[in-house]
Amino acid sequence: MIQLSSKRYEEIKVVVADVVEDYGLGYPLDPWELAGKLGVDVYRYNPDKVSPWLQPSCGDGGGYTVKISLPVGYAWMVFLKGSDSRERLTFTLAHELGHIILNHSCSNESYVREEQEANFFASYLLMPDIIARILFSPVSPQDVMGFCGVTASCAWEMCRRINRVYKGKYEIKDYEFRIIEAFFIQENLKAKNRLDLREIS
Ligand SMILES: [Zn+2]
Repeated sequence: MIQLSSKRYEEIKVVVADVVEDYGLGYPLDPWELAGKLGVDVYRYNPDKVSPWLQPSCGDGGGYTVKISLPVGYAWMVFLKGSDSRERLTFTLAHELGHIILNHSCSNESYVREEQEANFFASYLLMPDIIARILFSPVSPQDVMGFCGVTASCAWEMCRRINRVYKGKYEIKDYEFRIIEAFFIQENLKAKNRLDLREIS
């Protein structure tokens, strides 16, 4: 079992900040919204009936991603196991989008590393440390479960990751300021929409 380097963890956090900023995402983050904005089609599938025409480029238990070559560039399709709960699918979809955004080769040689990267991407995308710190202090697995809409075991892992960061003195990183800014832009929009609705009614 390899571990990602601390440099790689930081790089993935910067990628998440770019995604949150560029696609105007708010929290709680909806990976279906992100898939739509990326132009990635998401399907539910029956594991017993996988089409031989759609061979997974990146695949694991809960879902897989298919990369289709086009005359110019690529198109991506994500297939999620139809029988899984919405909570499970939330993390699986964020994980599959991680493979796409991190431009994974999905080759056998890089499988273990890319799986870890996609898992970390999904965990950090759904709940960046700084958002957990703003909303919940200290954060509990119940908070993460309720807020992110993930399974209990997933929430427990995410919580463990978040709490590891905030031991001792902490300086907010540049990419965290960008995530905070994106978060408050969306919160302001939500508040404005609520006000507009009140004016209409
Ligand atoms: Zn994967």
